[in-house]
Order: sequence, then C-alpha cells, then structure tokens
Amino acid sequence: MTRSVFRFAPSPNGQLHLGHALSAILNRDLAREAGGRFLVRIEDIDPGRSTPSFEAAILDDLAWLGLDWEKPVRRQSEHLAEHAAALDTLNRRGLLYPCFCTRGDIRAAAADGPRDPDGVPLYPGICRALTAAERADRIRRGDSYVLRLDMEKARACVPAPVSWHEFGDNGREIEVVADPAAWGDVVLARRDVPTSYHLAVVLDDAAQGVTHVVRGKDLYFATAVHRLLQDLLGLPAPVYRHHRLIMDKDGRKLSKSEGAESLRTLRATGASPADIRRHVGL
Ligand code: GLU
Repeated sequence: MTRSVFRFAPSPNGQLHLGHALSAILNRDLAREAGGRFLVRIEDIDPGRSTPSFEAAILDDLAWLGLDWEKPVRRQSEHLAEHAAALDTLNRRGLLYPCFCTRGDIRAAAADGPRDPDGVPLYPGICRALTAAERADRIRRGDSYVLRLDMEKARACVPAPVSWHEFGDNGREIEVVADPAAWGDVVLARRDVPTSYHLAVVLDDAAQGVTHVVRGKDLYFATAVHRLLQDLLGLPAPVYRHHRLIMDKDGRKLSKSEGAESLRTLRATGASPADIRRHVGL
C-alpha cells in the first residue's frame, strides 16, 4: 500500500499566525495517525511579496511548534520551468489565451456583473474575442499580458461533472460536485511569472505525490479549479479536507499583516507550543 502524503504549504509573505498553526499541526497529526509522510512546501511564486527572511521565520516557527518535516523543502520558485511546460501543454491544446486588459479595463467592464466565489467581479472575456492576428500583433508590439484559461473550452475537455472527495473529522468521505465555471477564465500565468497559485499548487501537489490536501476553508471553492486542472493535465486527484478558520476578535479571518495572533508575537509574550495547540483547539 502506498503511504499517505500530507503537506503544509505556506506562502513566505508574512509571519505565521494561529490559523497556520492549526493547519500545520493538523497535517502533521493526520500524517502521523496514517503512518504517512509530512512535507512542507514554500509557495514563493510571488517575487514582489516573498522573502527569504519570511521563509526562515516560518521554518523557525514550525520547528518551535515541535513539527518535523522531510528535508529538503520544495520551493515553488525553483520549479518554474515545470510550470511553464504544463502551461505550454495547455496552450498547445488551445485552452489558453493572452489577456491584455489592465485592472482598470476589467473594473470598468465587469463591476456590475457576476462575481466569483471570493466576491471578485468575473472577467468578462474581453480578450477571448481577439483574433489570432490581433493577439500576435499585440504580442509583437510588446504589450504585456497574462494567460487565462478558456473555461468553457476547458470544461468541454473533461468528463462532467468535476468533483472531489472531502474527508471529515470522522474520516468519512463525501463527494463534492465542483463548479469551476463559477471562477470564469482564471489567470494561469501572470505578467511577471509563468505560473499562478492555481497551476503551481496542482503541479507541485502531483510532483510531491500528495495524497491528502488539508487546508483552510477559504480555499474550499478554489478546489473546483484545482480538480479541473488535474483532470486536464492527467494528474491524480488527492482527497481534500478544508478545516475551520481562526477568526480575530472582530470575527475576521486572520491576515499576515496583523500582529497580535502571529506566532512570533505569541512566542515573545511567553506562549508555549502546548498553549498554541490548545488555542487552536487541537
Ligand atoms: N500557499 C497557500 C496559502 O498560504 C496555501 C495553498 C494550499 O494549501 O493549497 O494560503
């Protein structure tokens, strides 16, 4: 039997907070219970926001929590060539198109239209309508662009419906029917990097043989896009568990920019790893 593989995948663009602690400890505990492996992956594809000092602080906090993960950690930024190759595969199948719209263009065209599950206006498909000659011309002129997935074409390439298996506290699995179209033509490569969160997470989970993705509820609906990409690229589908989020005293999701619940601050004020565990309800 193959061993289960769990992972904690922080982005090094801020300090870890209690929500990350919950995710990391839960992944390690579940891996242990299953006699499986526990990996840490650094999701550093955003060159503007990721820094080596945040990465070092994250690994230091995880070690302080008493977690032990397999070395070396995988850094997404070291695998951009693999991401670019997958992008090329999708492009050659006619599933991507360059989008030259600025944020302002999109705001003006989409503000009153439908929104994605995160509440962001859906891209109204302006550049999908460009001809091959217009695209080539704009690329030749040096106009900057992102690559978007043509959602309708992509959906037509995979058997419907797209779904995933979600496992709960009691270990029971349910099948969730996913709606990737709710996200519209998602961006798969940005102007500055030949990848995106959605593409990178799917490729790296597959490359690392991840069998169980355990992460916060804020990524529940994004799983629809991940499952679609896995089906398009012929990658295995892990099972998923989306755990509760930890809120601040005003009922908002914790964010990295806020200090009070950061592990750094809690450590400095004398909290122990056992206190953190209790605090996150594990
Ligand atoms: N890197 C993502 C984050 O820090 C998590 C991605 C995932 O677990 O799939 O929010």
